[in-house]
Amino acid sequence: MPWTGFDHINGFNAWKKTEQAGRVFAVDSSGSASLVAVGLGWRNQVCQQVFEEAAVNLGRGLVAWRDSRTGKRAGPRVGFPKFKLKSSTVPSFRLRNKHSPRGRPMIRVGEDGPRSVTLPVIGAVRVQEDTRRLRRMIAAGRAKIVSVTLSYRAGRWMISLVTEATDLHPAHRHPVRDGGEEGGWVGVDRGLSAFLVAATSDGAEVDRITDQPKPLVTGMARQRRLARSVTRKQRGSRHRRTAVVRLARHHHRIRNIRAHFLHQVSNRLVKTHDRLVIEDLNIAGMLRNRCLARAIGDAGWGEFARQLRYKQGWRGGDVLTVDRWFPSSQLCSRCGASTVGLTLADRIFTCGCGARLDRDLNAAVNLATRGEQLDLCPSPGARSTSPG
Ligand SMILES: [Zn+2]
Repeated sequence: MPWTGFDHINGFNAWKKTEQAGRVFAVDSSGSASLVAVGLGWRNQVCQQVFEEAAVNLGRGLVAWRDSRTGKRAGPRVGFPKFKLKSSTVPSFRLRNKHSPRGRPMIRVGEDGPRSVTLPVIGAVRVQEDTRRLRRMIAAGRAKIVSVTLSYRAGRWMISLVTEATDLHPAHRHPVRDGGEEGGWVGVDRGLSAFLVAATSDGAEVDRITDQPKPLVTGMARQRRLARSVTRKQRGSRHRRTAVVRLARHHHRIRNIRAHFLHQVSNRLVKTHDRLVIEDLNIAGMLRNRCLARAIGDAGWGEFARQLRYKQGWRGGDVLTVDRWFPSSQLCSRCGASTVGLTLADRIFTCGCGARLDRDLNAAVNLATRGEQLDLCPSPGARSTSPG
């Protein structure tokens, strides 16, 4: 069978009515029994699209696996698709927004009260958040719902709507710079003692965030207690299930605190600066450092870079990624001399030229300067889109 979602769904549709999918014994009054193929018993209880989208996912997974094996796909190796167990994965499914013959969308928002989403087969579902902004955008023709994904996390069902929206209003976008205009780059150094330090190439510090929440570290005692509570309960018991949900809620809360903070900071940066320079950090490598892994994971740098890129994209700004071999913390931002032997513990950068400044500020200024250099003579691959 070819590896496309289309072929998979056809294969599945042919299979679901056969004896392999479901059969019953039928006995007539004379006592003779025969097998009757009834097909998959629950196929009508679930929206047809659930099967279709699962087939699309399988097709994508197979193609990714093949391309990774043959070297057509860059990045880390992709494994063969795994079976999705009800018990061991996040239960989720996706529905596309199809339209009825009369042109009515199957997924509607706010039809049954302001906090509701209407789904095919399932019907209207009450949701936690107000949908007003989305409803207004849809009514004005500024947004279109493409699909909806429902996932069960930490004891609750979450709905995420994928929408196609028009560009941001020009008032919210950065003014367009003409091609020849250089400068204006702001270096953003991500660190552990200060979450970030932003500076321009002339040495001025424009932003510094030191009061970042460390939800994982703060919640560690509670996490240990909840995890212990799970292992103490008998396997398969109701109490164990409750304890598992409690632990999952805790992890979810940590995730939310981190996400909220990252969104706040990335919004602030992309609103005030249109040209940002960040370093391509080898986060996977740094996480292998046992002493720092927890702090680095807690900081969420990779997610932060991702947010900066897409938000700057919405606003028409630029994010430049400097390769990970650029020694941003080892160079003197005043005279450009390189100091080897600066350790993580040295918070103050000192140079033979007499410069004495904060380590993170020095790195941020170096990044801004580097951004301006790359902007003047762009080398291929400098504007990398790789996560980091
Ligand atoms: Zn110097």
